[in-house]
Amino acid sequence: MKYIVGNFKMNGDSSMINSWLENFESLSRNKIIVAPPMSHLYKGKDFPKDISLAAQNVSQHSSGPYTGQVSVKMLEDLGVKYCILGHSERRSSANESDEEIFKKFCILKESLITPIICIGESLDTRKNGKHTDFIANQIQKYTHLGDSIIFAYEPIWAIGSGMVPDKKDIFDMVSFIKESFSFSIKVLYGGSISSKNSSEILSIENLDGVLVGGASLNPKEFANIAQS
Ligand code: PEP
Repeated sequence: MKYIVGNFKMNGDSSMINSWLENFESLSRNKIIVAPPMSHLYKGKDFPKDISLAAQNVSQHSSGPYTGQVSVKMLEDLGVKYCILGHSERRSSANESDEEIFKKFCILKESLITPIICIGESLDTRKNGKHTDFIANQIQKYTHLGDSIIFAYEPIWAIGSGMVPDKKDIFDMVSFIKESFSFSIKVLYGGSISSKNSSEILSIENLDGVLVGGASLNPKEFANIAQS
């Protein structure tokens, strides 16, 4: 069983999600997780049993004067089971730091919501051959925890670009991440996944699943990915 995670980002509205649900038919044995925008998490009540609800972000605070933020408890109330953390778009547009992401991780670990932590290097870092050091630095805080963790390795240059790393490069990075831990963790890959490349990517031996952005908005395409 692999994890197939759909990230709608800031796309869709109620009628889009209704139509998505009508057209999504999965015969997959994989674990399917969908993250609509925060404003539409309430649609999780209409999700079929085989789709788990995820949030795209959470506050690092548990309550208080944080206008516009949403707490872990509020996500729990909405039936959220997973939460994406540290997506590169949040790191760039909301200046999220590794420290803030780690705080969010710690607060989520006290709840029933499972964090999915996004990590990944820029194209410059990859070209300079510094990608392994960069990832080592991003995961370093988590290596001492002795807890079950899900990472999504998403090279920034592969997100929404149509560029996908070689299978061997994904395998090497997933191996590196897993070998950095003395306990078992899960690692997903994200970046320009479509039904054309999903079978090949999901066949990577040590990979536990994929995080899908753009292609998850099309229910038939996402169902094909989930069945690959
Ligand atoms: C993402 O948003 O995490 C992502 C991988 O996007 P895309 O599949 O569109 O590259």
